[in-house]
Amino acid sequence: MAANGLAPLSRLGQNFLIDGNVAGKIIAALEPGPDDLVLEIGPGPGFLSAALAARAGRFLAVEIDPGMAQVAAQRLSPFPWARVVKADALKVDLLELVASGLELPSGAASSSGSGPRLKVFSNLPYYITTPLLMKVLEEFRRLPAGSPAADRGVFMVQKEVADRILAEPGGKDYGVLTLAVQYYSQASPVCTVSRHSFWPAPDVDSVVIRLDFRDVPAAPLAPQDLFPVVRGAFGQRRKKVANSLAASPALMMSREDAYKALAAAGVDPDRRGETLSLDEFVRLASEWKRISEERASEAGRGGAS
Ligand code: SAM
Repeated sequence: MAANGLAPLSRLGQNFLIDGNVAGKIIAALEPGPDDLVLEIGPGPGFLSAALAARAGRFLAVEIDPGMAQVAAQRLSPFPWARVVKADALKVDLLELVASGLELPSGAASSSGSGPRLKVFSNLPYYITTPLLMKVLEEFRRLPAGSPAADRGVFMVQKEVADRILAEPGGKDYGVLTLAVQYYSQASPVCTVSRHSFWPAPDVDSVVIRLDFRDVPAAPLAPQDLFPVVRGAFGQRRKKVANSLAASPALMMSREDAYKALAAAGVDPDRRGETLSLDEFVRLASEWKRISEERASEAGRGGAS
């Protein structure tokens, strides 16, 4: 970095991992293999990138900072199957990126026999953690036929974000992020990471989490039917779920319909929204979908008569 006149930029969340022990745990959790396409979001100067690229069949990194992208590319020059793309990961089309990664020459001398898999690693810049996680989870579900299967992601996140992702119903950390991650993947903790494992040291500790992407979502309900109800229920924490749902401007649900949907879903209307499990939210949102379709068809009949 010094040779390239670069210093860490805090506005881009540039706290670089300098701990080889943690890097080893990340590599073990990701298990990059000779058939895999590995995507890294935010390689920085490429400390981990070279280790990942050395093990992967193909390797692609997306970095917003042109200076860092250049240093990472220099570091990856021994690996013809690796490329750094200078782009904003929040704006880039991940499906196009995966397609371009598949055009790289394969670095595999032999096959693991497991078939190609798509894996993603990011030491996530803290200021884009949630939108970037959601983007990866949502876009990887839409990979076209012929793409490698989205297998898993390993993410370094701030401890408080890991607490939210891994939370159980009823606790203060349980929320929309918990349920969204659960809907698309199975989350597990890999290790906690002290702030002293980074240069410069951030103000908080971090946790490495592993997300195993599901082939099909955990629930038989489309996200656009499920998540408005989840957001409505969390809109007013510590309030009864029936009241939170009826107060949600996005749902336009009357109190009467809120009680009806909750009864049909077998959920006590006096419970607080943050105590409902994913299964209970799925039952509730399915009932609300049915009721709102009934209401729409009644209104249609009313309009036609
Ligand atoms: N992977 C390296 C490591 O583990 O040491 C760097 C991690 S550092 C926490 C985050 C990196 O993400 C930085 O290099 C930063 O420039 C990059 N970054 C920040 N915002 C980004 C964005 N929107 N798109 C792509 N990269 C981004």
